[in-house]
Amino acid sequence: MGHRTTQCLTCLFLSPCAATPTEPESVVKKYLEELKGAAADEDCMICMEKLSSPSGYSDSCQSSTIRPEAVGRLRNCQHSFHMLCVLAMYSNGNKDGSLQCPSCKTIYGEKTGTQPKGKMEISTFPQSLPGHKDCGTIRIVYHISRGIQGPEHPNPGMPYTARGFPRYCYLPDNEKGRKVLELLKVAWKRRLIFTVGTSNTTGESNTVVWNEIHHKTEMDSNLSGHGYPDPNYLDNVLAELAAQGVTEDCLGQ
Ligand code: NAD
Ligand code: ZN
Ligand code: ZN
Repeated sequence: MGHRTTQCLTCLFLSPCAATPTEPESVVKKYLEELKGAAADEDCMICMEKLSSPSGYSDSCQSSTIRPEAVGRLRNCQHSFHMLCVLAMYSNGNKDGSLQCPSCKTIYGEKTGTQPKGKMEISTFPQSLPGHKDCGTIRIVYHISRGIQGPEHPNPGMPYTARGFPRYCYLPDNEKGRKVLELLKVAWKRRLIFTVGTSNTTGESNTVVWNEIHHKTEMDSNLSGHGYPDPNYLDNVLAELAAQGVTEDCLGQ
């Protein structure tokens, strides 16, 4: 059974839609190579229909110039989907020009998030962190205030709250810690550190929450699991940054 929707995922209005989705289509065509000839006997991971039958999103995106039967392969990871399904997926996101493979999470282009506006402050001090006795500490302070949700947020036009700000975070001031700091600056610019959603801790919705990049907010104990010592932390956060497309390759650009 395919997943069907009556809402056009391109323009987010009920079909039939009048939008001319030239920009989303060009993103799909940039990263997928259309497969000519018989499609494989596999399911499309987006609509769950066979790749040899039309896209499950054909009814809801009739204004597209992409044919419902068209199957494309992502250029690097080689995973295949209906091109119309990838168009629907892209159009349902924040339309930042990047695509993420739903099978293997490979990122095409530069992924950005929906972090509300705010400020990231950095300072250092000589006291060391448990587990990193040989160096001082980097302190990051994130400032975000409450505001009104934009079109990229779950409830556009509604207010969002910002609890517990400023939030203070700590890194060892050694080579690896400084590298993490530089990558966190990239992630901040790409709006990946926070998002607007529901807090797991408090259950509050329409509030600013950490995204998928963990920070250490406790300096001299680890009672919460968000403190030091934690010998794996720097490697873990490097992996979380990489999963968002933020790697050493992004530095010095
Ligand atoms: P959340 O609870 O939805 O969790 C999102 C991610 O943040 C999870 O991965 C979680 O492991 C991590 N996380 C949870 N608590 C953390 C902490 N203390 N330090 C670092 N990472 C943490 O996210 P959220 O609502 O943004 O974070 C909850 C934390 O934010 C609270 O523990 C608290 O520090 C702060 N907060 C404070 C107030 C306040 O009124 N002072 C209110 C809400 C949240
Ligand atoms: Zn499909
Ligand atoms: Zn893939």
